[in-house]
Amino acid sequence: MKIETLAVHAGHTVDPATGAVASPIYLSTTFERDIKGTYSRGFMYTRNDNPNRHALEQGISALEGGAGAAAFASGTGATMAVFQALAPGDHILAHVDAYYGTTRLLREIFLRWGLQADFIDMSNLAAVKKALRAKTKLAWMETPSNPLLKIVDIAAVSQIVHDADAICVCDNTWAPVLQRPFELGADLILHSTTKYFGGHCDVMGGIIVTKDGNEFFQRIRSIQYEGGTVPSPFDCWLILRGMRTLPWRMRAHSENAAKIADFLAQHPKVDRVHYPGLSSSAGHDIAERQMSLFGGMLSFEVKDGGDMAMSVAAKTKIFIRATSLGGVESLIEHRASIEGAGTTSPEGLLRLSIGLENADDLIEDLDQALG
Ligand SMILES: *Cc1c(COP(=O)(O)O)cnc(C)c1O
Repeated sequence: MKIETLAVHAGHTVDPATGAVASPIYLSTTFERDIKGTYSRGFMYTRNDNPNRHALEQGISALEGGAGAAAFASGTGATMAVFQALAPGDHILAHVDAYYGTTRLLREIFLRWGLQADFIDMSNLAAVKKALRAKTKLAWMETPSNPLLKIVDIAAVSQIVHDADAICVCDNTWAPVLQRPFELGADLILHSTTKYFGGHCDVMGGIIVTKDGNEFFQRIRSIQYEGGTVPSPFDCWLILRGMRTLPWRMRAHSENAAKIADFLAQHPKVDRVHYPGLSSSAGHDIAERQMSLFGGMLSFEVKDGGDMAMSVAAKTKIFIRATSLGGVESLIEHRASIEGAGTTSPEGLLRLSIGLENADDLIEDLDQALG
């Protein structure tokens, strides 16, 4: 099946009891035991498993071409389960431009728990090779990255990391459907389903998808239900509903973002535009190879630094000043001030999550805000 068909049907069955086409939400925390004491209907207690979570995991796993998935209450909860599946002393290679929350989780929590980590620019393959150690167990890729839209060559990094007998995780939050990490060599895929899967800024979630039934994933599965950071049945239902329209939304997000990137690239007050679809961008050639479209996220740097960037964000009428991404409404954000000390984001940079409004209206809004 093609991806649009999978998105509509994966993890979905008509309810056998009532014929309901939209699946029911199973709020029940507990399920009836058989007289013999077994659970022949498959569910026992919602922290362990629940019909809505099961459907979500099956659905996203099918969409990514995986062998299984474990859903969590947030993207960060899912990330944490991956790190918890490692052991003290294990070494992680992480992308220097990774999601700020991922970097902070490693630095502020997991270094104290005995993991070791190096943050390197994974678009530099020589740096990846050089940073490998005997204890390297896992490499954490993220592409396109946040907020500079750097592109990591998933196939090349996977090869290097596999040669060192380590596992590759790809945070695919910014490019679901558009990028197929399993086909390129990744072993695990992470999504913050808060973003494009949910798609409407009204639900949080995260998921780890595995390419095969490896032992590392079994540990993540056990952390999911022993640790208990599971999503609610309603949240699972909303995220799976979001998935039904995901391929079409990604197409529209990408089409709008490409138009806005072109507009910004020619604006006299804009210094640089970071969008992998622009042929002038550093990772364009690799992005063209590993992405079918270039996604709905972009960032740009204004000529006069931080004050000018804040003033542009203050003047937009359609773009909403808010963090996060992947919803139907366009958002604008000054990353440096939200990340605070230690940020790698330039002062003059604004990040845009391009929504599903008409691109002409968005361009007009940015034009008046840039003055
Ligand atoms: C938002 C985000 C996360 C974290 O997800 P939450 O759902 O906010 O916990 C991880 N990675 C990327 C790339 C993100 O954009």
